[in-house]
Amino acid sequence: MLAAAGWALGRFGERDEDEEAPAPLNIDYLKGLNFLLNEQTDQALEHFLKMVRVDDQTIETHFALGSLFRRRGEVDRAIRIHQNIIARPDLAAEQRDQALFSLAKDYLAAGLLDRAEKMFSRLAEGSRYQVQALESLCGIYEQERDWEKAIDAGQRLEVLGGRSLALQIAHYYCELAEAAAAKGDYASARQFVKNAQAGRPRTMRGALTRAHIARDMDDNKTALKLYHRIIDENTYLIAEALPEIVAIYTREDKVSELERALKALLDKHPERASLVAYTAIVNDIGGIPVIDDCVEKYMLDEPTLGEFVDVQHLSSEDKSSRDSAFARVRGALSKLARNTPRYQCQECGFSSQRLLWQCPSCRKWETQRPASRVQFDTVLQHNITN
Ligand SMILES: [Zn+2]
Repeated sequence: MLAAAGWALGRFGERDEDEEAPAPLNIDYLKGLNFLLNEQTDQALEHFLKMVRVDDQTIETHFALGSLFRRRGEVDRAIRIHQNIIARPDLAAEQRDQALFSLAKDYLAAGLLDRAEKMFSRLAEGSRYQVQALESLCGIYEQERDWEKAIDAGQRLEVLGGRSLALQIAHYYCELAEAAAAKGDYASARQFVKNAQAGRPRTMRGALTRAHIARDMDDNKTALKLYHRIIDENTYLIAEALPEIVAIYTREDKVSELERALKALLDKHPERASLVAYTAIVNDIGGIPVIDDCVEKYMLDEPTLGEFVDVQHLSSEDKSSRDSAFARVRGALSKLARNTPRYQCQECGFSSQRLLWQCPSCRKWETQRPASRVQFDTVLQHNITN
């Protein structure tokens, strides 16, 4: 609050000599500043609201105060300041827009999404806040999971803001596809996936969603084709697609085909073995030799694990005691992996157990990536704090 008062006072101190003499200061204004300096916020607010005349100098201060209140989380006060500005009859159009925009942000901060949406929509129709208003609208529709409206706002924003929102809009369509599929409306779901992929740089989520739809419709052939494409083309989605592939091959009793396909993949991309292993550990996938080999290699290579168990020694034992020892270590790893976050946002570090397409913390799309190692440091910290 002191900063705002200082800033307001500074405005009057900064005037150049050759500017016309400043208007005499309003007595309410000085009283208000005095209250602010003494941290008597309520009295200050009352005094500022009582000021009948708002001129160019004081209106700036009102805006500064309003946004300061909002930043401090005192949204009710911010709302009163901005409503007070809007109520002035002599307000210029530009200042009215600024006040409406500020008030919309207050409502958003207060969680009053309906009111915020109304005001941002009005500003998006035509004002110098069009682009920011559309950005805020996208955020509101994302929160409300109103994907149709989000697509509309996103497309208008692409035109006005001059930047591509292809990935974001593709995700909006995928959200619609998943919602339709969840209701059993597979025809609409497939159409939404097509829209997600049309003319946009592909997010593999479209393929994954389409694969899930095929799986749910018992079209295993299509599902397998798509899941295979995902693990061939996209490294990190192995974590999502591999368990589905294993389930289908196992159900169809074609594990030897799966063996061949995975061997070919790992010959081409040996670096993917650790994610295959970690995915198998988390999902308890066992009994498929090529995957079990990845898991064993993973356990032998894991440096932190070596501090707990003598894995090298285990591997030299006779086959049956070696197998049961590996199974025990693997079981323990699986428990650890399921109790530590599996996905982490590359932008802000937010982590979760399940893949979240939109980060709940920084609100960015498709920024999470799966861990391919047990996060021992997290486990140890977890044990200390609990
Ligand atoms: Zn994030």
